[in-house]
Amino acid sequence: MRKAFVVGHPIAHSRSPLIHGYWLAEYVIAGRYERIDVTPQDFPAFLQGFRDQGYVGGNVTIPHKEAALAGIDHASDRARRLGAVNTLWLEDGKLYGDNTDITGFLANLDAACPPDWAERAGTAVVLGAGGAARAVVAGLAERGLGCIHVVNRSPDKAASLTRLAPDQVRAHPLDNLATLLPEAGLIVNTTSLGMTGQPALEIDLAPCRADAIVSDIVYTPLETPLLAQARARGLRAVDGLGMLLHQAVPGFARWFGATPQVTQGLRDHVCADLVAGKGKSQ
Ligand code: NAP
Repeated sequence: MRKAFVVGHPIAHSRSPLIHGYWLAEYVIAGRYERIDVTPQDFPAFLQGFRDQGYVGGNVTIPHKEAALAGIDHASDRARRLGAVNTLWLEDGKLYGDNTDITGFLANLDAACPPDWAERAGTAVVLGAGGAARAVVAGLAERGLGCIHVVNRSPDKAASLTRLAPDQVRAHPLDNLATLLPEAGLIVNTTSLGMTGQPALEIDLAPCRADAIVSDIVYTPLETPLLAQARARGLRAVDGLGMLLHQAVPGFARWFGATPQVTQGLRDHVCADLVAGKGKSQ
């Protein structure tokens, strides 16, 4: 039986077991996917020793994503660019790592929007400059968006994201938001604002293009106030659950040998858990 894990500290809130457990049952694979709580102090030993416990790999979440990058034999280009690893696997006795948040973000937009969404958008506004914003900005740069405006409360953190693609990314303080919105074909919230227990994101979408796509990577609640406002204005709204589901695909394929599909059945399964209100994040 092949075994994989999600390692973090704390880890009880993780929804990854729900996703991988669903696929193991759907594809009738005799595998297991387990939560493991490991402190930062014990993480280097865990990284070197998990194969001896019968694991073939796993997901890495907060606070170990940077330490995972430092402790593996081979990191993907994307993991190196983001400075963080969220997916580990063994190959020829070596430890490999990737960051699948870019895949998850782009695959979600690909599934929800017309195929040429990136060309049509041209310019994006990304709100926030934390860990998730790095994946979003790197993904948009990969897709060739000409201009990616990063708007953040702390301007120095926004400025640090320009290094991901200096020709495409521009950093701004929050005050610039209203003047940037009219040119953006894509607006993405990567701040934690709008999440259950957090203040709402204060934004007026009135100046947006009629064809603008509004994406919120927050998925608790699934329908954030930002997405509700976008829908009320007739704009295309893309929720954050798809990013979470799609980022899980590459890991499952590596550990269990089958490339799983993100289906309505999986969405319903995870949505039921969101509605039940168990936990907050990946
Ligand atoms: P993070 O690294 O802590 O970054 C949080 C961001 O929110 C920062 O830019 C921060 O601004 C901003 N922010 C927080 N409170 C604010 C406030 N009161 N006013 C203005 N800005 C504020 O968090 P993260 O890991 O990037 O995650 C952000 C959100 O994305 C979370 O809700 C998380 O659950 C979600 N997420 C979703 C997925 C998915 O698969 N859908 C994946 C990853 C994360 P400063 O820089 O000024 O502090």
